[in-house]
Amino acid sequence: MAKKSKFQCPIGMHDILPEEQAYYQKIYDVVSNIADFYGFGKIDTPIVEQEELFSKGIGLATDIVNKEMYILKTKGGDSLALRPEWTAPLVRAYIENGMQSLPQPVKLWYFGPCYRYERPQAGRYRQFWQFGFETFGESSPVIDAQIVQIFYNVLQELKLKNLITEVNSIGDSNCRPYYKKLLTSYFRNRVASLCVDCKRRLKENVLRILDCQEEKCQSIKSDAPQILDHLCEECHKHFKDVLEFLDEIGIPYELNPYLVRGLDYYTKTVFEIFSNKKEDKSLEEDSKRVALVGGGRYDKLVKVLGGRETPACGAAAGIERIKDLMKSQEIKLPKEVLAQVFLAQLGGLAKRRSLKILEIFRKAKIKVAESFGRDSLKAQLNRADRFGIKYTLIFGQKEALEGVIIIRDMQNGNQETVKLDKVVEEIKQRLKK
Ligand code: AMP
Repeated sequence: MAKKSKFQCPIGMHDILPEEQAYYQKIYDVVSNIADFYGFGKIDTPIVEQEELFSKGIGLATDIVNKEMYILKTKGGDSLALRPEWTAPLVRAYIENGMQSLPQPVKLWYFGPCYRYERPQAGRYRQFWQFGFETFGESSPVIDAQIVQIFYNVLQELKLKNLITEVNSIGDSNCRPYYKKLLTSYFRNRVASLCVDCKRRLKENVLRILDCQEEKCQSIKSDAPQILDHLCEECHKHFKDVLEFLDEIGIPYELNPYLVRGLDYYTKTVFEIFSNKKEDKSLEEDSKRVALVGGGRYDKLVKVLGGRETPACGAAAGIERIKDLMKSQEIKLPKEVLAQVFLAQLGGLAKRRSLKILEIFRKAKIKVAESFGRDSLKAQLNRADRFGIKYTLIFGQKEALEGVIIIRDMQNGNQETVKLDKVVEEIKQRLKK
């Protein structure tokens, strides 16, 4: 067992060790290829933003702003927050960098860590990575469908199985206020039966009662008025068009009238993509679903944060959850290219010159392993054997003085001395065989 050190990673955060990096790299490669194909430009924003960006953008009544932000006061007295999500920072960057004057739509993607002070549990961390795609300046429902398609494509390209896409519309400022009134009066009449959190939600953000997972709220929810019956004409048409586009592209989806998402800024379309761990019999029914992606349309946010009214649509995916799923579904990653050549050196002069030889091989793109810290030939050959190396180069005092090097075939033990300036060519020829 690893020794317990005096210092530990902050709760809910983790190191990404070398053996895990291959997953992040694979996800990054797939996402960046797809981003490139669909014409998205990559953006990075600072890890911290002014706290107010999130309280204004995401909304004071959300858990993220209310309970989960890491806030720090700078020496200058500014109040900054570690970013809990990327959409508000992207909107800030879009406005601040004059992207409203560029030809629209402006399409951006990102890949990096977020911070939320949540109760850590499996798949829920305090530092986690997200990638996402956001489109600004396009109101057509085809964009909503395309955003769903892009995330679906990423997950499929990563070979993830059992994906479920759920969609809903939460209307806009025309129809949502009336629906919220209906909902408030419905739940007010049943307030005694709601869980403690939902009693609070009833005052602060009634829509959130719809995605409550508490047992006692389920039956009350199931008879609540549904937003799809109360959408205004424009939102209704928009939603119908989104579904037709999804049908056209052949993305399987389910309608979920209770999907409202945790953030205040959404308008019209909202969606999530889950993976269903059907096969895992040890899990409770409700923990079989892992939320991988969430997003939707947010036509008001750019204006709320100080820009011109600009329609926008996008989503974010959780990278740790995708990585964990790739592992549990036993998705194979490309094998790391192992070194086929080992450079063994003997004596001070040879050791010094070996550093140069290594560089010649690096430039020729041939991976060479070494063990410069060891002086005995036997120890170095043992190491080469352990790496399963095909050829070992032996370079001692005599060879260094004569400008030659020995190539040893590790399978049959045959050795041949070649000129140092020919060694790369010689190795290339042998590796081709
Ligand atoms: P959200 O920004 O809350 O819509 O989340 C988008 C996606 O990020 C979710 O579907 C999850 O995959 C992932 N995610 C959100 N919160 C966490 C967390 N605390 N730990 C790990 N992944 C998360």
